Amino acid sequence: MDNRFSPETLCVQGGWTPKNGEPRVLPIYQSTTFKYDSSESMAKLFDLEESGYFYTRLQNPTNDAVAAKIAALEGGIGAMLTSSGQAANFYAIFNICEAGDHFVCSSAIYGGTFNLFGVTMKKFGIDVTFISPDASEEELSAAFRPNTKAMFGETISNPSLEVLDIEKFARVAHAHGVPLIVDNTFPTPINCRPFEWGADIVVHSTTKYMDGHATAVGGVIVDSGNFDWEANAEKFPGLCTPDESYHGLTYTKAFGKMAYITKATAQLMRDLGSIQSPQNAFLLNLGLETLHLRMPRHCSNAQTVAEHLQANDKVAWVNYCGLTGNKYHALAQKYMPHGSCGVISFGLKGGRDVAIRFMDHLKLIAIVTHVADARTCVLHPASHTHRQLSDEQLIEAGVRPDLIRLSVGIENVEDIIADINQALLA
Ligand SMILES: *Cc1c(COP(=O)(O)O)cnc(C)c1O
Repeated sequence: MDNRFSPETLCVQGGWTPKNGEPRVLPIYQSTTFKYDSSESMAKLFDLEESGYFYTRLQNPTNDAVAAKIAALEGGIGAMLTSSGQAANFYAIFNICEAGDHFVCSSAIYGGTFNLFGVTMKKFGIDVTFISPDASEEELSAAFRPNTKAMFGETISNPSLEVLDIEKFARVAHAHGVPLIVDNTFPTPINCRPFEWGADIVVHSTTKYMDGHATAVGGVIVDSGNFDWEANAEKFPGLCTPDESYHGLTYTKAFGKMAYITKATAQLMRDLGSIQSPQNAFLLNLGLETLHLRMPRHCSNAQTVAEHLQANDKVAWVNYCGLTGNKYHALAQKYMPHGSCGVISFGLKGGRDVAIRFMDHLKLIAIVTHVADARTCVLHPASHTHRQLSDEQLIEAGVRPDLIRLSVGIENVEDIIADINQALLA
């Protein structure tokens, strides 16, 4: 299908174009393996001389169709599904960083990613410097070292809701000859397309809005094809020098603009195997078919709820970049003029204990460890995800002890507000 169709059309029909007599709906290729007529035709696949399917750990037609839809939505040239957002973030970095390397990362990122980068990847010998997304270009530049290979940030951070100045990060990354990787989970390509602002690689936890129904954990890496690896060949030997595990093939020479995403599939997925199941890819695709309808509703509901909370005298503070007084309002208007996401955070007067009482009185809104799906849900990080930390440690981690994360769903907004009101009164 023509990738120049508008996002709405790509959501519904992208990725899968049935030929005469084929299923209208993307089929689930529930098969680990694929059959060939001759030994030689299979051998060509193993040499990466021809493309085709042989084993689902590397590629599967259902997954590839969904990956192609997401690549088209982001304006990229290729994509790979992973078993989770965590796997996508790990692969995105590990595809270009090895032991002894370093990367620069915004400190406003998802807690799971923060642990992965700051603790687990250090054990692989890959070092990271976390820096505030609000830092100046000079301060960001000062974090670079000769062995720095990438820069990373989240378009809207989970749960602190800080907006990344993508152009600023891209300028600094490119001045140092490295790509900018952006986690675009919260806005989705419906609200922001980071490649248009200079990002080179985009990652998602598809578990969130893309699936949208809280049915399947998953992730994706999308390649813009824009980064010139050869121009910085000394930094990226994995892409620009022969891969002994593929008979000395060099990814940039053999695959050109597709070098990065081909290596992620042919080498990392082959060896590490965090593939998304075709069943989950099918569910993800169903979610994607309505992404363009759901996102505007999430945003308008969240805007209404945020304004309602702000006007209530039991509420101490509200953080949502759609509010005019918000620190990130101007950046959100620039990068996401049609809306940001459905996630709000706020605090109640009286702090932690009042927050817990409020949440226990909610009826329609459920307490769950999830965010960004159709059902409105709520989480108190100090009592749940960050429960092991003291109040002082919480503030250090950028999570206030009274912070309530509210993920506004696509129900009727009056019903959501009525539930909030009765819980505030209780
Ligand atoms: C949830 C999340 C992740 C991790 O994704 P999983 O699918 O849970 O592994 C990464 N980044 C962001 C921004 C997230 O919200």
